Formats: sequence, C-alpha cells, structure tokens
Amino acid sequence: MPVDATAVVTGAGSERGIGRAAARHLAAAGWNVAVLDIDGEAAAKSAAALSGEYGLQIVGLQADVTEAGSVDTAVREIEQLLPPLRALVNNAGVTGPTSFQNLTQEEWDRVFRVNVQGTFLMTQRVMPGMIEAGYGRIVNLSSVSAQRGGGVFGGVHYSAAKAAIQGLTRALAREVAATGVTVNAVAPGLIDTDITAGKLQAEAERAVLAGIPMRRKGTVDEVAAVIAFLASDEASYVTGATYDINGGSHIH
Ligand code: NAD
Repeated sequence: MPVDATAVVTGAGSERGIGRAAARHLAAAGWNVAVLDIDGEAAAKSAAALSGEYGLQIVGLQADVTEAGSVDTAVREIEQLLPPLRALVNNAGVTGPTSFQNLTQEEWDRVFRVNVQGTFLMTQRVMPGMIEAGYGRIVNLSSVSAQRGGGVFGGVHYSAAKAAIQGLTRALAREVAATGVTVNAVAPGLIDTDITAGKLQAEAERAVLAGIPMRRKGTVDEVAAVIAFLASDEASYVTGATYDINGGSHIH
C-alpha cells in the first residue's frame, strides 16, 4: 500500500460481517480505515473496536451507499479527516430468499440499489482521486450465487445483482487499467455472518453444506484475507479478476 493511505469499507458496521473483518485485515496491513454503514452507530462501534488495536486512524461514518448525496458527504469527510483515499471495498449488500414468482418490484429494486447502485455511486465518487494519484485498489463483493445461479440463500434478484457486479468489475477494470487503478471482485460462498437474518432454515443449510466439497461454511477472515491481498501492492498486476472463496462449491 502507499505510505499513509486510507481504505474505505462500506457496510462494515455489522459485528460479525465480512466488512468489519476486511477493515481489520486492512488495518493490520497498515491502512487507515474509514468504516461506512447505513447504521451510523454500528459504524462507530466497528471503528472503535479496531482503533485501539492498530494505532492508525480508523473512523466510522454513517452513509447510505444508495444515495449520491450521502456518499458524497461521507467521502468529503474522509478526504478532510484522513490520509489520501487509495482503496475502496464495496461490501455493503443485502439479500433475500424470495422466489422469483413472489418477487415484488420493490424487493428487486432494493437488492439492486444496495448491491449495484451502491457500488456504482461509491466507485464513481472515489475514482477521480485515485486516477489523479495514479494508484487505486477497488474490491467489489460478488457471490458464488452469481456463478451458480443461486443455490445458497438469495433469490434470482440477488444472483442477478451479484452478476451485475462481476460485469461492472470487468468492464471498469478494462476502462481504467492504464491509470494505476485496479478493479477486482471476490465471490464468496456461504460465509458465517448474519446476512440471512436467521432465515436460512437448518434443513436448507444442511442441503447447502452437502453441496460444498469442504463441507463447511467459510469464515469472514477467509474472505477478508483475499480482500486485503487484492488491496495490496502485491496484487498490482491483478485486475478484472473474480476470486472464488467457496470451499470448492463452484469449481470452473
Ligand atoms: P451483513 O448483513 O453482516 O453486513 C452487511 C452490512 O451492510 C450491514 O452492516 C448493513 O447495515 C450494511 N448496509 C446495508 N444497506 C446499506 C446501505 N444502503 N448503505 C450502507 N450500508 C448498508 O452481510 P455480510 O454477510 O457481511 O455481507 C457482506 C457482503 O458480502 C455483501 O455484499 C454480501 O452480499 C456479500 N456476500 C456475503 C456472503 C455470505 O454468505 N455472508 C456470501 C457472498 C457474498
């Protein structure tokens, strides 16, 4: 990473979530970190939990990634408070198990707004500063659901949104490749977090686990470690890639 730089992680308020683990791994690698979440209190708590550990600047801010104004306010504050912003992890995401026939347009829109529009708005807001600096690392959260056509928890809307993120990642990586900014994605399988809000029934979970060659869920640290790698200097020739973190549940 560049000396004294900042990484932003969206949706990193969730206590057992991938975002908080990513923030921790980035701080361990020397990044100052801005933790964003629609739940400002949760963002502040995440930041407080991390700042004692690493002697770096870690701040937590409220931001709704679906609102351009909210994104702009948060990024402006980060630009004023923290060292230059050189990495972005578009982690904020929501899912839902509703079947296609029962899907409302509202639910379709909600999943696309947070996952896809959120990634678009955050990335577009921070990209000019990275291009100007000739250095940037963007990591987007896709899912094995995009590659396998669901089969974990989320419905068609979630698979479609996470597939959109892979398309966005590849096309943007190509568009900015010569500027020093890399754009990559991770596609986790079933990870032990609270995103399913208790709605993944035990029997359904057993069926999912039976289809995972490693026969277990992944941990947030197993995802965060790959995110931190993609944000590192060492990943300088990796762009437009999607890294599978799925215990073998999708091998291609
Ligand atoms: P989580 O529910 O624990 O955390 C998601 C966070 O995003 C929450 O803190 C929530 O408040 C925040 N958020 C929601 N809407 C937001 C908005 N509009 N603006 C800002 N923040 C918002 O989820 P998680 O399991 O840690 O998932 C993190 C990412 O990883 C998501 O994009 C998810 O789709 C993806 N993912 C998760 C899994 C899994 O099995 N857990 C698998 C593949 C991909």
